[in-house]
Amino acid sequence: MSNIIEVSQLQKSFGSLSVLKNISFDMKPGEVVAVIGPSGSGKSTMLRSLVHLEEVTKGSIRISGQALVENGHYASGAAIKDITAGMGMVFQHFNLFPHLTVRGNLELAPRTLKRKSVQEIKAASRELLAKVGLADKADVYPSTLSGGQKQRVAIARALMQSPEILLFDEPTSALDPELTGEVLRVIRQLAEENMTMMIVTHEMSFARDVADRIFFMDNGEIAEAGTPEELFGNPKLERTRAFLMRE
Ligand code: ADP
Ligand code: MG
Repeated sequence: MSNIIEVSQLQKSFGSLSVLKNISFDMKPGEVVAVIGPSGSGKSTMLRSLVHLEEVTKGSIRISGQALVENGHYASGAAIKDITAGMGMVFQHFNLFPHLTVRGNLELAPRTLKRKSVQEIKAASRELLAKVGLADKADVYPSTLSGGQKQRVAIARALMQSPEILLFDEPTSALDPELTGEVLRVIRQLAEENMTMMIVTHEMSFARDVADRIFFMDNGEIAEAGTPEELFGNPKLERTRAFLMRE
């Protein structure tokens, strides 16, 4: 099976601060990768680079064989739009629009893109809200929801464009502990449906359970990668061990 994501020798600096140092990895369709590592190690920057919320300084990113960036040279605006349309991202702080209802949040981007009829878009939002257990919340505003419900809305919104890849940046870090389960359950269900996902998380038991591979990021590089058994059971590097002890 060919790779859905191919990243090679990515480098990214903010001014003189080198944040990503020679990141390379591949992902297969349907694979789930959990990314762990200390704060400031470059996890968010790596994810944001994949969906072109950040531009890298050097290296290549290929999504389903199409180059988003090749040796530091970005594709045309239209090509970038096309490539990133197949990717959805879920953020720690939900990033819902407060002035739109739940349904409005789901339908905004598809209605702007006009690739589907209004009827199809409405049907899709209804179906996806039911999928995340929020069928009865379509017409309320985000401010009336709990954090767990907000994050499930954000996941449904990311699914509206039928993405081939979903990226999650600490999806449960802003939630009270009793609300993380309902969000992790939705992500677990997506994994069972073979969605390709990269999930930055501090939920080690969830990562161990749901991920096919774990990347341990430290100081701008993927310091160690392996199956959950390898990485949690028998980490090769001292710094991986030290991080796992702290978590
Ligand atoms: P993580 O998600 O692992 O905590 P980040 O990718 O957010 O790490 O950040 C990696 C490093 O890049 C940190 O030192 C952070 O301060 C720096 N950084 C992130 N975004 C910016 C930015 N927009 N401008 C300058 N420095 C940034
Ligand atoms: Mg981060």
